[in-house]
Amino acid sequence: MLEIKNLHAKIEDREILKGLDLTLPAGEVHAIMGPNGSGKSTLAYVLAGKEDYEVTDGSITWNGEDLLAMDPSERAVAGVFLAFQYPMEIPGVATMTFLRSAVNAVRKARDEEEYSTPDFLRLVKEKAKELQIDVEMLRRPLNVGFSGGEKKRNEILQMALLEPGLCVLDETDSGLDIDALRIVADGVNALRSKERAMLVITHYQRLLNYIVPDKVHVMSDGRVARSGGPELALELEKSGYAEFGGEATAA
Ligand code: ADP
Ligand code: MG
Ligand code: MG
Repeated sequence: MLEIKNLHAKIEDREILKGLDLTLPAGEVHAIMGPNGSGKSTLAYVLAGKEDYEVTDGSITWNGEDLLAMDPSERAVAGVFLAFQYPMEIPGVATMTFLRSAVNAVRKARDEEEYSTPDFLRLVKEKAKELQIDVEMLRRPLNVGFSGGEKKRNEILQMALLEPGLCVLDETDSGLDIDALRIVADGVNALRSKERAMLVITHYQRLLNYIVPDKVHVMSDGRVARSGGPELALELEKSGYAEFGGEATAA
């Protein structure tokens, strides 16, 4: 379970998160919505432990452990996975090689045996099949020339291979066509389990037509301003974010 209490965070001396509270139990999928600039991505970066984001007050615990005391790689070892809006491109490195390094780094840190190349290949094929991903894509350099949909497939596959306890996905939705949206949604739905907590950050309700969250939280000016069930997302699609300091219409 993820517990965030009274979280305050700033970047370049500007306070962005201003007392955010959130509880995400294992086995649940929660959506974070809210107008542009409300601090959604900042929350994702703070969870990731990205440098330049300074937490000035409050706490984040993950299964009772102090997440803020861990560096980004320790967070990965603790089972935290962050998928981001702008995946990095690595020209010289085949996607398969990248995935194996990422998975083995975490296994090594956990004192688990690292995968050999053939074992990893077998595992990737199995997971890729479950997620209906074509493994041919994995021979190409990481994210280089990938379509939006391919980047999403790769992100979901990486998430599946790391078997995280906490998944955080920050989706702008802008530029995501309906196919890419479905890839993300199908992946999230396939990876739902009673041990896993998932936080899906999105500006638009559209994604939540495919991922039905257990709870929806609306952020406004660095806090959770309202929480509710999946119906809250539908309501926001009609009313927009005006009452949360955004434009009148959500889409
Ligand atoms: P959202 O994801 O909800 O659109 P963000 O977390 O990206 O919101 O941004 C929240 C606020 O923080 C915005 O007002 C934005 O301008 C500001 N902000 C984000 N990144 C930086 C930065 N690197 N330096 C200064 N301000 C930033
Ligand atoms: Mg934004
Ligand atoms: Mg954002």
